[in-house]
Amino acid sequence: MARKGILVDYQYCTGCYSCEIACQSEHNLYLNQWGVKVMQQGPWPIRDAEGKETDKYVYDFIPAFTKVCDMCAERTSKGKLPSCVHHCQANCMKFGSVEELAKDLEKKPWQYLWVPPEA
Ligand code: SF4
Ligand code: SF4
Repeated sequence: MARKGILVDYQYCTGCYSCEIACQSEHNLYLNQWGVKVMQQGPWPIRDAEGKETDKYVYDFIPAFTKVCDMCAERTSKGKLPSCVHHCQANCMKFGSVEELAKDLEKKPWQYLWVPPEA
């Protein structure tokens, strides 16, 4: 069977945390346990070559998958999307075969492809 992964277009992640909650709810996790955790970078100003702060800022939200994630094996075996993907408010996560997602990855920067270890 083709390996599956999740392509995350974090340029469009709004930091709404719906993916975290969807995962915790789907898997009955504790409140301090996450299959995916949204990390915040910034805000901090980008400096120019002389070290002066510019009016540009780094301010990103990056969902990070953890060892708890089983890629929603039960849901996907029934043809459903992983819960986090299904509930993503910005539609910035895509589930599919690694081969197909790698093609999408090449088309646009500010993305990453999450592939869990094979069981
Ligand atoms: S794929 Fe499923 S188990 Fe993994 S983070 Fe998303 S909701 Fe949680
Ligand atoms: S649900 Fe989507 S938009 Fe919201 S924090 Fe998660 S990845 Fe970002």
